[in-house]
Amino acid sequence: MTEPRRPVRAQRGPELRCRGWRQEALLRMLENTVETGERPEDLVVYGALAKAARDWPSYDRIAAALRGLEVGETMVVQSGKPIGVFRTGPDAPLVVMATSNLVGRWATAEHFYALERRGLMIWGGYTAADWQYIGSQGIVQGTYQTFATVGQTHFGGTLRGRLIVTAGLGGMGGAQPLAIAMAGGAALCVEVDPTRIRRRRETGYLERDTASLDEALAWVRAAVSLGEPVSVGVLGNAAEVLPELARRGVVPDVVTDQTSAHDLLVGYVPAGLTLDAAAELRERDPERLMAEARASIAGHVRTILDWQAQGAIAFEYGNNLRAQAAAAGVADAFKIPVFTERYIRPLFCRGIGPFRWVAVSGAPEDIAYVDEAVLREFGGDPVVADWIRLARRHVRFQGLPARIAWLGHGARTRLGLLVNDAVAAGAVRGPIAFTRDHLDAGGVAQPFRETEGLPDGSDAVADWPLLNALLNCAGGADLVAIHGGGGGYAGYYQSAGVTVVADGTPAARRRLEAVLTADTGLGVLRYADAGYDDAVATARAAGLRSLQPNVTDSAP
Ligand code: NAD
Repeated sequence: MTEPRRPVRAQRGPELRCRGWRQEALLRMLENTVETGERPEDLVVYGALAKAARDWPSYDRIAAALRGLEVGETMVVQSGKPIGVFRTGPDAPLVVMATSNLVGRWATAEHFYALERRGLMIWGGYTAADWQYIGSQGIVQGTYQTFATVGQTHFGGTLRGRLIVTAGLGGMGGAQPLAIAMAGGAALCVEVDPTRIRRRRETGYLERDTASLDEALAWVRAAVSLGEPVSVGVLGNAAEVLPELARRGVVPDVVTDQTSAHDLLVGYVPAGLTLDAAAELRERDPERLMAEARASIAGHVRTILDWQAQGAIAFEYGNNLRAQAAAAGVADAFKIPVFTERYIRPLFCRGIGPFRWVAVSGAPEDIAYVDEAVLREFGGDPVVADWIRLARRHVRFQGLPARIAWLGHGARTRLGLLVNDAVAAGAVRGPIAFTRDHLDAGGVAQPFRETEGLPDGSDAVADWPLLNALLNCAGGADLVAIHGGGGGYAGYYQSAGVTVVADGTPAARRRLEAVLTADTGLGVLRYADAGYDDAVATARAAGLRSLQPNVTDSAP
């Protein structure tokens, strides 16, 4: 454990502390990740323990190295600790990193925790250790997209008049109430930690909250009967509140969960324990705490399965809830599908995923400018156009102004180039950093989530994200990261992250074109390789130079 320290605020404005905007942009992205994280004082960003850097001394050394870094040099970061700087070349990444990767046989939660306790490793999440986190706004479109698709798939086009029960209002789960209300539904969100509820209220992600289940039910029932959207946070433990709802005869239309169930030690508070009692037990008897968490998850999942049997649409939101329940003896836990396979995979086949950009100047006008550009360029796509309009109305910025939009192969490159030209022309106040979540076509192999149930059975093949990272280095991205699962996710995934900065220079233009095209292009070829016709069609339509027989041989 490191000494807690005063929270960081990302620098705004035109003043450079580094030797160029590429380095300055990465430094601001690091600062922004800490600023918008859940527990800035100990560098924890989201997902219970995903960290931005190993510890505060590492953070300081990374920041100092970025200040002195020249173009043509590359800093190496290992699990949040800076290791060294090497001369590489002008188009090489400024930063490469590998975080929480363990050799297969040792990739267990126990081994990870042992290393973590000795200060040898952190979990980087998808976007924490590689400085790509932008607060709950980073996940809100994906969450909206998921719930809107649930409405389209199961409820005749909308969630209006539907009750959605979920839990967890943390860094990512906190996007749920806003996303559900944006999709028209009535959200009942169970959260055990009052500070998280307060934070979602303050940032405009949650409309109402109460500690009374009766009051919460009255509010959501009224909204359901009027067909009006609402989001309600109720203080309580999911492992207690969900069974209580079932006992009262409530069957929601949709049920999911975003507690950090993937991590039994710090992510899921067992039933019957206050937050303080859980913290005390974590110190005194971690094994017992984990056993209690597992037992609580089993009860939680049994309620979800009962509701599913009664007609509720149930899905796992990628937090390993099913795997934990299965390990606790819930034999049919995997009857619950995962959201990615059901609602997101078709988008991945077209290279569409959570693309985002950050105004490193700190000026909201820069994002307004890019919003207009997106509407102009892609306004013909109703999903994109509706999203940008909804986001402008409902999503408040956290930290540096940023926007997410699920753009696909080709569209990301077009936008990147257009924005780089705008930076060059002085139409915006500063550079724009482009990045994406690892939850993307090319970014991840996670057999219980993004790559579950692939038609060719290649769910656990981790070559793809590694190739993605290599290719993004070759293309000249500013930062490239290879991440593995840590904590409860140890052994469950391999992923890759990328950031590329539009600083208005011709060199940035070259890098943006290469990186944004290859990043999504390889994702499309990955899904073509798995056998998806949509991906084959996308590869052909985009003129990707595929060497795969199923793409090249039977071309129409
Ligand atoms: P977080 O740790 O910031 O938040 C988890 C929240 O759950 C906390 O606020 C915690 O107080 C609450 N909680 C824990 N136990 C509880 C219980 N028994 N009852 C009620 N509340 C409880 O995590 P996060 O960043 O919000 O992510 C949540 C989970 O979702 C993680 O497992 C993450 O990996 C997963 N996930 C999310 C997405 C997405 O697209 N949003 C995708 C993949 C995975």
